[in-house]
Amino acid sequence: MGAIPLIDGTAGARLPVKPAFGSPCNGCGYCCAQEPCAVAREFVGAGEDGPCPALEREDGRFVCGMIVRPIFYIGRAAGLDGAADAAPSAEDAAIGGQIAEALGAGRGCDADDP
Ligand code: SF4
Ligand code: SF4
Repeated sequence: MGAIPLIDGTAGARLPVKPAFGSPCNGCGYCCAQEPCAVAREFVGAGEDGPCPALEREDGRFVCGMIVRPIFYIGRAAGLDGAADAAPSAEDAAIGGQIAEALGAGRGCDADDP
C-alpha cells in the first residue's frame, strides 16, 4: 500500500481500515484522502491531490462535508466567511441529499483496493 495522506482532525485516533471494494462503507476516509472527487474539484476548490478539504470527522468515522453542510463549503470556495461548526440547515439537507445521490453514497465502497 502506498502512503496515505495525513488527515487533520483525527487527534491521533486509530482510523478504520478500508474494507474491500463493494463492501459497506465504514467511513475510513481513504478515498477522499487519496483523491478529491469531481464534486470536490468543481465546488470545493480541491485540486488533484488529497485530502479533500470537505472531509469531516464525526463519531469516529469520516463523512463528506458536501453532504452534511454543502452551503458552507461552496461559500468558502467562493471566498465567503462562514462557521464550519454551524448546524446544517434545511437547505443543506436538500442540497446534500442530491450530492449524496450523485456520489452514490450508501452503495458500498467504490474505491479501488490499494
Ligand atoms: S467509500 Fe470506501 S474508501 Fe471511501 S470512506 Fe467508504 S469505505 Fe472508505
Ligand atoms: S466532496 Fe465529499 S465525497 Fe468528494 S472527495 Fe470531498 S469528502 Fe469525499
